[in-house]
Amino acid sequence: MPPKLVALVEDEVDILELLEAHLHQALFRTSKYEDGTSFLASISKEVPDLVILDLMLPDIDGLEICKILKKETKWANIPILMLTARSTETDKVVGLEVGADDYVTKPFSPVEVVARVKALLRRVLPRMSGKVIRIGNIVIDPSQHQVVVQGKRVNLTRSEFHILHLLASHPGRVFTRQQILDVLWGQEKAVIDRTVDVHMMNLRHKLGPAGKRLSSVHGVGYKMEEV
Ligand code: CA
Repeated sequence: MPPKLVALVEDEVDILELLEAHLHQALFRTSKYEDGTSFLASISKEVPDLVILDLMLPDIDGLEICKILKKETKWANIPILMLTARSTETDKVVGLEVGADDYVTKPFSPVEVVARVKALLRRVLPRMSGKVIRIGNIVIDPSQHQVVVQGKRVNLTRSEFHILHLLASHPGRVFTRQQILDVLWGQEKAVIDRTVDVHMMNLRHKLGPAGKRLSSVHGVGYKMEEV
């Protein structure tokens, strides 16, 4: 398998070079961009396997870039790791809402960034059956990574898709936040509980009225209501 390509979008050159060195050491290929425009121009030529995206860029906001990628079917599945200098809960939550898969707050350890890159890329290979699941008017097709509600396609992020697929594969069964995180991340990463809540909130919103089937079980976790 050829080395995976990680696109680095960051206007601070020393951070770019630090990350590049560590990623090369871990046998990744990298491409570097100091602004959003040059990055967006590049992805029509070669689609990266993952993007490390700075939140504050001189031209386009990292959140805007996230939205642009998630709107395009051919780019929507690229995992995005967001770099942020802001550490408030709100900023992290906003990043996840616009489709980032994970975030790291500056200053960060490059070793940790590489570990998260590997975890995100591992997640690309879903451990799921290819069987189409129908729950009420929700149709989930794992082979296409596609969700259709009442005949209309719903664009979900990778994380949202995995959570929905997990819950819908076992209707009625309650999953704790930790169990959901384990499916998303394996055992290797401690993610704050709130991450699951944000993904659930987005999922419900995107599924519209069908989202009511996803119910929270107070103090425990979440489940998909049986039909
Ligand atoms: Ca910056």
